[in-house]
Amino acid sequence: MKELQGRTLYFPEMDYAGARTLAAAFRSQGISSDVVPPSDAHSNALGGKCTSGDECYPTRVTLGDFLSILDKGIAKPENAAFFMAKAGGPCRFGQYAEFFRKTLDGLGYKDVPVFSLTSDNAYGGFGIGFQLTAWRGIVASDILRKLLLMTRPYEQNFGDTDAVFRKSVDEVCRVLEKPAKSLKLQRKELAACLKVARERFNNIPVHKKGSFPLIGFVGEIFCRLNTFSNEDIVRKFEQHGAEGWLVGISEWILYTNADEIRRLTSEGKRFTKKYLNAVIKRYILTREEHALLRPFKKEFVGREECSVNDLLKLSLPYLPWYGSLGEMTLSAAGAIYMQKKGASGIVNISSFACMNEIVSEAVFPKISGDLGNFPMKVFYFEGTQQNLDRDIEIFLELARNYKKIRQ
Ligand code: SF4
Repeated sequence: MKELQGRTLYFPEMDYAGARTLAAAFRSQGISSDVVPPSDAHSNALGGKCTSGDECYPTRVTLGDFLSILDKGIAKPENAAFFMAKAGGPCRFGQYAEFFRKTLDGLGYKDVPVFSLTSDNAYGGFGIGFQLTAWRGIVASDILRKLLLMTRPYEQNFGDTDAVFRKSVDEVCRVLEKPAKSLKLQRKELAACLKVARERFNNIPVHKKGSFPLIGFVGEIFCRLNTFSNEDIVRKFEQHGAEGWLVGISEWILYTNADEIRRLTSEGKRFTKKYLNAVIKRYILTREEHALLRPFKKEFVGREECSVNDLLKLSLPYLPWYGSLGEMTLSAAGAIYMQKKGASGIVNISSFACMNEIVSEAVFPKISGDLGNFPMKVFYFEGTQQNLDRDIEIFLELARNYKKIRQ
């Protein structure tokens, strides 16, 4: 890509593993790519200076992370480019790339590209090989995060699980960043790498796994996965004696594909090229996901992710998918699914004033009542310090009681 020549493309760290595997997928195409350094008070202040407060919190965090690269001199403006995905629909995410462009221009960084993969740039000219590599990276990230969360609350030696997780992410990235001789070989190497990671996680000395109440974490995708935005809330729950089940990234990709198929069907476009492409995409995404997940069947008993179609059915009595779209539907349905799989409570993580999660919060009392006073709570984040420990302890008391009554 001409506009990226001589530059490093920086990715926002929505999720530790997901951002790194995506950067690795870009490196496999010969593009110098990296993840932004960890967010801190300085980056947050930089983002705050360039936002008015009307934007959602992920805008401020992401913008601040990009600006701090230039501000701290980690890269010179002539050597940097920033990645930002684009999306349509009512969510403010669709405005991020335009807003970042405008802000960079205003600060005198007119030449620093904000790079997106869209139909306008023919998706970077990348072919199926790149798309498969990126998707495999997302699936691998979700697998490693799940292993991390199933192990870390029970580790005997503080820090063991995080160390294994980071090492495993690095190894997955090394597989993905190699220009693949064949896509079949890449999958084989990735599967082997994940099996090694599985053994490493299994060898971590632990107390009795599965003994803490299981808490499901749903909600807005960025705040849910970005530990800076959510003040590392899952880890805080673990410190209070809980195990977290955090919805990963793949669910959103599979959902957008299912939604495209649904939309084309309702518009009477079933016999079009677009529809055929969407159906082929569904087949490939599912096939790849199943292939990488197969060796983890035993590990993930009780933690299987719900298929998107089943999630959409679960949403029907509360937020029917044909009326309410996106994360609000997934959060409500995900909460019901996790309760059925044994969760003792649900935490919905949201950016302050995000419409999606405000809507799902409105149906939570009904869902909770229908499930026998199932504990459900929304935690909103906007970058101000909160006393999370007190709220977590109160919530966990409810979850422990719910678990006891259920048993
Ligand atoms: S889902 Fe909410 S918080 Fe996330 S980008 Fe959209 S509006 Fe912002």
